[in-house]
Amino acid sequence: MITSSEPARVRFAPSPTGRTHLGSARTALYNFLLAHQTGGQFILRLEDTDQKRYVPGAEIELMEGLRWLGLEWDEGPEKGGPHEPYRQSERKDIYLHYANQLIESDHAFYCFCSPERLHRVRQEQIKNKQIVRYDGTCRRMDPGEALRLVEKGESHVIRFRMPWEGAITVCDSLRGEITVENRNLDDYILVKSDGLALYHLAAMVDDHLMGITHVIRSAEWLSTFALHAQIIRAFDWEEPEWVHLSIFLKPGGKGKMSKRESSSLMKDGYSIFLNDLKTLGYLPEAVVNWIALMGWSYDDHTEFFTLDDLVTKFKLDRCNPAPAAINFSKLDHFNGLHIRSLQVKDLANRLKPYFEAAGCMVEDDKLLQIVPIIQERITTLDDAVIKAGFFFEEDVQPVPEELIGKKMTTSESATAARSAYLILTGLPEINHENAEMPLRSLADELGLKAGQLFGILRVAVTGQKVSPPLFESMAIIGKEKVLERIQNAIEILDGMSSTSFS
Ligand code: GLU
Repeated sequence: MITSSEPARVRFAPSPTGRTHLGSARTALYNFLLAHQTGGQFILRLEDTDQKRYVPGAEIELMEGLRWLGLEWDEGPEKGGPHEPYRQSERKDIYLHYANQLIESDHAFYCFCSPERLHRVRQEQIKNKQIVRYDGTCRRMDPGEALRLVEKGESHVIRFRMPWEGAITVCDSLRGEITVENRNLDDYILVKSDGLALYHLAAMVDDHLMGITHVIRSAEWLSTFALHAQIIRAFDWEEPEWVHLSIFLKPGGKGKMSKRESSSLMKDGYSIFLNDLKTLGYLPEAVVNWIALMGWSYDDHTEFFTLDDLVTKFKLDRCNPAPAAINFSKLDHFNGLHIRSLQVKDLANRLKPYFEAAGCMVEDDKLLQIVPIIQERITTLDDAVIKAGFFFEEDVQPVPEELIGKKMTTSESATAARSAYLILTGLPEINHENAEMPLRSLADELGLKAGQLFGILRVAVTGQKVSPPLFESMAIIGKEKVLERIQNAIEILDGMSSTSFS
């Protein structure tokens, strides 16, 4: 049972080693939700101790991504807080202090083995089909002698002294108790030869010092869970509640997504990276809703959640530890739902940058007229540009062949367009109420289906075969321009019939 009635202090502790993945976003979200529903704190801690894997720019992308989702942190970089600094590379001395404490209590030891020696030992163990682990050479060294070597400046690391006998039982809130034989664990390195602590030590020290009550993190950390509990117990610190979240599988359901698969996904308009989803026109509300339900459910039917709903309804103990396959059609579904739930003005504000990025000169008044007729029809914000970008163009350039009505000749199409022109020109203004009926009657008179006639007019007026509703679109474009465009279409059709005789 997950105890969350007390204010929870939780942390999202990413390593800035690459782009922000959906899995990290979900970990951040669940931590945020627990903090907010218990009146606690959500802490952002950057675990950048692995300088070799550090990717410049990753931190910025990460923080922008969290803010885009609405997951502002209470303590952390750019924000400060009582446990500063929140960047592990700036906490080196703190970790050394605690590593020394473990040496003094005999839970850790200095190791002077060279990488070449360790490599040989490893090869030997593999050859003899033994468990691959540190062979314990320096663990047996006299502590006084070890200290003398350290003081002499001998290169060394600090290793955890893992018990050789017995077992450790740890408890994950979603999976229950897990028992691991200590002989299957290693004398893991806690501090490297450059004096920088590794994640295993740094995270445990920080969780303790920062008063973390629940460690909610990816199931990837299950394999070193026992080590982490050993470290905490060696210090005699209180253990937090541990929650290892399910991992994400690729859409097919097997394995994790590779780099190559991720880039081919992008071509289809999807991505596993948070910042790409913004570019692709997904709403942060939809992404939050989608990832919240990857590994958690409220009941068997409720699917629409805002961040505020989630704060009240989310229950950490209803999380499912089974791996969750990423389902992008669900993302489209949620994006549609959230797009439709927005106020027209809000949606217009969000659409504007997408139109502008596509080179459209957006007029705000016009955009406010367009939104109601596309709101029901778009899946992503980017979609709006494809469907409605023509509204912001001075002229449209229809593909001549597309102006020919279905199952009609070029000259029949020209005649139909000409008759429609005459009807529309006689109207005081063009809109759904006054244009639809006369044009339907016209189609009847010409022996056409309404769809045939409307198809010609649609291409003439919007330049595309698919568009928002025709008469509503005409109303926004305005009578003068509509007539100009139909006239232009008639000329194109006339030109085609005189050259092809069709
Ligand atoms: N820095 C670790 C990572 O990037 C965090 C694991 C944890 O939350 O303890 O995955």
